[in-house]
Amino acid sequence: MLDRIRIVLIGTSHPGNIGGTARAMHNMGLADLALVSPRCETVTADSVSRASGADHLVNGARVVETLEQAVADCTLVVGASARSRTLPWPMITPRELGGRLPTELAGNDARVALVFGREDSGLTNAELQRCHAHVHIPTNPDFSSLNLAAAVQVLAYECRLAWLAGEPAEPEAPDQALANHQELEHYFAHLERTLVAIGFHDPATPRQLMARLRRFTLRARPERMELNILRGILSDTEKLAPRRDDEDRPGQ
Ligand code: SAH
Repeated sequence: MLDRIRIVLIGTSHPGNIGGTARAMHNMGLADLALVSPRCETVTADSVSRASGADHLVNGARVVETLEQAVADCTLVVGASARSRTLPWPMITPRELGGRLPTELAGNDARVALVFGREDSGLTNAELQRCHAHVHIPTNPDFSSLNLAAAVQVLAYECRLAWLAGEPAEPEAPDQALANHQELEHYFAHLERTLVAIGFHDPATPRQLMARLRRFTLRARPERMELNILRGILSDTEKLAPRRDDEDRPGQ
């Protein structure tokens, strides 16, 4: 189970935090680290020293440019956030996150990503809206922001507790496999394109429409099969939509 949990750090600016994250992960038995557009050198004296012997995780980290690339194959994406946001999203506690892991990771294709933000500004709203749920580590409300590697430590510990306690769940039948992040993003792009084509959605006055539809869809945890049905409906809707000459609607 632990080998299918990925820690994703976005826009990290201190090498020491990457080393500290590697140490926290290795202590708890996690090994899959992805760095999205780091804003610093990743292998430095600081990161090696803070890794304290777990620097193989720093050296082996996958460095990518976008969150999408880091979590494309993940069936559950959870964003760690120190603050609440304007459009509330499903929130879980670290303990609830751990409790969900054995079931979430039962299927063969299942992968979970825990996403952490920048030291100075956290995760953007767009990044948080790509997550199924947000996890908040309960803190002093007047001083809620943990050091990045410390936040990773708390969640990695909950993963380990859950693994130690977890009964191996029955694997899911293949046709009940959940859609992964990439499939969901293709669906959202298709949905938005179709809503524009039928005149329901005007990107000039978005009114959080796509964010609300994202939240609704991610809350439902659609299976791959269900998403295929929805995409079939969208394709047929697109065919019925009035064609405008100035419009280009490539298929996905
Ligand atoms: N100053 C930033 C917080 C940066 S801390 C802000 O106000 O948003 C760096 C990262 O550690 C955060 O993006 C988040 O992923 C994680 N983190 C810090 N404190 C946390 C908390 N209390 N709960 C969940 N994640 C937290």
